[in-house]
Amino acid sequence: MQVSLRPDASPSARRVLSIAILAAAAAFSSVLPTVSAAEVPAQSMKQVPGYYAMALGDFQVTALYDGAISLTTALLKGVSDSDTQAMLADMFVPLTKDGVQTAVNGYLINTGKDLILVDAGAAACFGPTLGGLGDNLKSAGYEATQVTKVFVTHLHGDHACGMTADGKRVFPNATVYVSKDEAGYWLNKETAAKAPKEAQPFFQAAQQAVAPYEQAGKLKQFAPGDTLAEGVASVPLVGHTPGHEGYMFSSKGQQLLVWGDIVHSHAVQFARPDVSIDFDTDQKQAIATRKELLARAAKEKFWIAGAHLPFPGIGHVAEQKDGYRWIPSEYSPLVKGE
Ligand SMILES: [Zn+2]
Repeated sequence: MQVSLRPDASPSARRVLSIAILAAAAAFSSVLPTVSAAEVPAQSMKQVPGYYAMALGDFQVTALYDGAISLTTALLKGVSDSDTQAMLADMFVPLTKDGVQTAVNGYLINTGKDLILVDAGAAACFGPTLGGLGDNLKSAGYEATQVTKVFVTHLHGDHACGMTADGKRVFPNATVYVSKDEAGYWLNKETAAKAPKEAQPFFQAAQQAVAPYEQAGKLKQFAPGDTLAEGVASVPLVGHTPGHEGYMFSSKGQQLLVWGDIVHSHAVQFARPDVSIDFDTDQKQAIATRKELLARAAKEKFWIAGAHLPFPGIGHVAEQKDGYRWIPSEYSPLVKGE
């Protein structure tokens, strides 16, 4: 039906037409099904799978979400609680009675020759909010059996527990790489025996995670700074633990450093790199390493992937007036060779 009026139609003719249109609309709407509130579906309460992929030259990097855990602000050292709260508020980071949500991320790098996992998540070592890395590896299109190398930044449970389940290797075809200094500390029975009681679970978790790989001859200890594969070099970043190591991936002029536990609180420690965390084995050295690395990352502009930065934890570091700031990566399509 086409309804039109000549441009010179009288006002009354226009009024008659608009009434007719309203009447037709009302009649039409009366035949439409009515939508009641009961037919609105329930909220799905489903989140997207916890993986995010990016291209790095010829490599593909996939961030894998293990989960998140709340950390109390009392763990941060060298900063007043009021300053911490102000910095969290500035960054819109919620502070609940349990503390601040802190992500645990692992990174899977497909170099075309190797499928390398950096850090394996917490499995069941820190409760039910963590341990999702394995499922997210599958969601990302891979199988645990396809992983050829596991690099651990350090042997804390939130990075190492996920390598082993019920005493068996989760990645049966992978060789586990740990720096000599890290293995020499956590896997040394004498050091463990001398450690305070509250540190004992950390030693046990490290030893249990590594044991089945060691038994299978699949544990490789490397010297800090060694090149571990084509385009992959270890970068000593000690302080958080005695052999804490980052891994620099380089392809076609692009670089990404998986830096482990350099920053636990993005709202506080970029602006104030002199703030350490209770878990740092050597607080002073951890601060010095963080300051040096943030300066280098801001100058050289390489990508960063951080185990405890908000997922996917990939982005850049830039200088600001009195410290640094974190610039997260933007969601992007995968384009090979860029
Ligand atoms: Zn950690």
